[in-house]
Amino acid sequence: MTTFRFSRTPIDVTSLRAELADPTCGGYTSFEGLVRNHNEGLSVGHLEYEAFEPLAVKEGERIVAEAIERFGIERAACVHRVGDLAIGEMAVWVGASARHRDEAFRACRYIIDEVKHRVPIWKKEHYENGDSGWVNCERCAAPSADADTHAHGDTQGAHTHANSHTHANSHTHANSHTHANSHSHAHPQSHEHGHNATAASESPRVGPQSFSPMSAPRAPLASDYSRQMALKEVGARGQGKLRASRVLVVGCGGLGVPVISYLAGAGIGCLGLVDGDRLEASNLHRQTMYALADVGNLKADLAAARVKALNPEVETRIHAVRLDATNAPDIVSQYDLVIDCTDNFSTKFLLNDVCVQQRRPVIFSSVYQYEGQIQVVRPDRDGSCLRCIWPEATRDGIVGNCAEAGVLGPVPGTFGSLQAFEALKLLLDLPGQLGQELLVLDLLTMSTSRVRTKRAATCPDHARSALARAQSEATNRRSTVQPDELPLEIEFGSLQAAQEAGFQIIDIREPHELAKIPTPAKNTRHIPMAGLLHGTPPFKPEGKTLLLCASGKRSLAATQELRSRGLTSITSLRGGLATLNKRVPA
Ligand SMILES: [Zn+2]
Repeated sequence: MTTFRFSRTPIDVTSLRAELADPTCGGYTSFEGLVRNHNEGLSVGHLEYEAFEPLAVKEGERIVAEAIERFGIERAACVHRVGDLAIGEMAVWVGASARHRDEAFRACRYIIDEVKHRVPIWKKEHYENGDSGWVNCERCAAPSADADTHAHGDTQGAHTHANSHTHANSHTHANSHTHANSHSHAHPQSHEHGHNATAASESPRVGPQSFSPMSAPRAPLASDYSRQMALKEVGARGQGKLRASRVLVVGCGGLGVPVISYLAGAGIGCLGLVDGDRLEASNLHRQTMYALADVGNLKADLAAARVKALNPEVETRIHAVRLDATNAPDIVSQYDLVIDCTDNFSTKFLLNDVCVQQRRPVIFSSVYQYEGQIQVVRPDRDGSCLRCIWPEATRDGIVGNCAEAGVLGPVPGTFGSLQAFEALKLLLDLPGQLGQELLVLDLLTMSTSRVRTKRAATCPDHARSALARAQSEATNRRSTVQPDELPLEIEFGSLQAAQEAGFQIIDIREPHELAKIPTPAKNTRHIPMAGLLHGTPPFKPEGKTLLLCASGKRSLAATQELRSRGLTSITSLRGGLATLNKRVPA
């Protein structure tokens, strides 16, 4: 007989037992998993099983062969139902024949446990209340009640009973009302039905007549993880890990979009989406999951809607805020892993500090024009963090964001994809994870470099004190906001008008930008953004200061950053040089 197969019709135990009959064996054990009428507090009316059959049969046969080898038994087999099953029907049968009953028991147990973990079979429950859902019974596969427990819990757990004739021909027969199988939330049938059907019919299927050929596949709207579960490093066990994980994505832009798409596709249980910005048309060349019609809407809302459309099994939590020291600890604490997809360094350091304090892993990436870097920080493993590498420059290096420095869409796309991949490696515990190093990749030359990072002895202290300082600053700022405080942005018709209003002007553009378009006024200063934000501000903080850049975005970000350091007399020229150029001939 084939040792593992699927059946679309009720399992015929009598004939299966006859197939396993062996006169040399004194022990025969079978396990029967039955469909029970409830799960997780919901009444189940009936359910469906589906399998990715070509793969499932191969893996099932491998498991049975392992059991035979491992326990030295004579024969074993497993049959699993697919299709629609009613309450009480047998979903899975495992039989083992051995010279002695103990080996038979253990082999039987091994097979059912391994089948639950490794064979791609999915279960959809239809509840009495009209709902239905693909359910994860990974935990059912965890070692629990044994076949020798004798419990009658008809609707509350395992109904197991074992008969044993311990004689020359011992016959043990265990019935268990259980979720008969493991499964992640997935739908095994791919949308490439033709391919699957072909593969199935080509696979050797030498079962008895009760195994009908695969019926025409339906096209249900359900998630399908078969392509990743086919990896032996993933399987049902890995899928269960992904399902159980909660990941916070900070920033739903160029880096965030691939991260969110891939993690939603992978079946992460819960995705937190942080972004306080609204979509702009200029985002679309790199933020490919949004549409032109979405412009003006909050990205966090749009991303959540997109996740729902991609994979309704993923729970989303929307945090449409700008992270600061007062809200970050609470938000971060709801997740197991944080992915930084922001383009500003103050948020990166804030996330670093919160994650060091909460001992949560965080995956950083930054992109600048044609290159970028990725770093995985593992405070949960006492690894190095951002402050180990940049102990002094807490907010250095805002050298330009995508809006100002310019970027081609695939660059953040590449780094976001790398972040998503590192996240999956971490969650699945795959080998080769980025550890104590910073990976730098230049996409123009395709050169990579890895910088080893070392943990600073004082690192957690740095993070803790920086966080405490930021929290008290944020609190003070909230309590000392004056109604006549200088707005973050101001409009002026010309720089001369600003100077007449008492502002000193700092052009924060890069030198090459100035070379093309000089600052259109006299008595202005030029301090590129990175220099402005690095360390102590190189200008007198008392006077009113107007920051100027090309479009007003960089100067606004710099203003917010400097305000967060207590410099309240800074403001930004709304619209930047572009507005001035329209109004005043340079
Ligand atoms: Zn550190």
